[in-house]
Amino acid sequence: FIDLTSLGKSFGPTPVVRDFDLALHQGEFVSLLGPSGCGKTTVLRMVAGFETPDSGDIRIEGQSLLRQRASQRQIGMVFQSYALFPNMTVADNVAFGLRVAKLAPAQIDKRVDEMLDMVGLAAMKGRYPYQLSGGQQQRVALARAIAPRPRVLLLDEPLSALDAKIRVALRTEIRTIQRQLGITTLFVTHDQEEALSMSDRIVIMNAGRAEQIGTPEEIYNRPTTRFVAGFIGTLN
Ligand code: ATP
Repeated sequence: FIDLTSLGKSFGPTPVVRDFDLALHQGEFVSLLGPSGCGKTTVLRMVAGFETPDSGDIRIEGQSLLRQRASQRQIGMVFQSYALFPNMTVADNVAFGLRVAKLAPAQIDKRVDEMLDMVGLAAMKGRYPYQLSGGQQQRVALARAIAPRPRVLLLDEPLSALDAKIRVALRTEIRTIQRQLGITTLFVTHDQEEALSMSDRIVIMNAGRAEQIGTPEEIYNRPTTRFVAGFIGTLN
């Protein structure tokens, strides 16, 4: 469904992503897991259209995205920092992409209600982001990202800024919603437990490359390199 082939990206002389291959099936939830600086976010930003790869290709259903601008790619994204519009209500934040897509007002209202129901925030419609907890803000960011029914959802460390308790609750919520909508998802994290508990498959990244790609069970029980074994904590 999504094919990343031989992706490469350097900033100046430093290669940050090297010869990166990954194929995601429709509806699949795949995590990019690895230490700080291994290139996870850069892969995500290339899929989103915020960075241009130096080499390789990114395709959805066989069609290359490289000539499409970020706004044309039908991709939803959630960031660690929520990045809500501070001067807009919750409802207006969620409606944003729908207005850009020029949906009819009645349809926008209906979709906003549907999305806020889905994330359990129907009662918060009229509030502003500063009146919400971190977990609530991230639920609004998720509702905003999925409201336009994107083909792909990109999640960049969406749980990292949250308290431990909310973080665990949101793991389940995100997966439930993602499954319900059948939306193909690429999730960046440096947290092993998060990746192991949430993913259909995990890509372990090291210095810009995919070290191992497998199900959580395979990665945990059958690491194929010392790096993977060490990172996942099963060495010795
Ligand atoms: P983290 O978990 O710390 O965010 P990451 O695995 O997501 O790490 P990236 O953010 O992809 O890693 O960054 C990989 C490397 O590329 C880092 O060394 C970073 O400093 C560098 N880098 C990323 N973006 C740029 C940029 N726009 N200009 C220069 N260097 C960059």
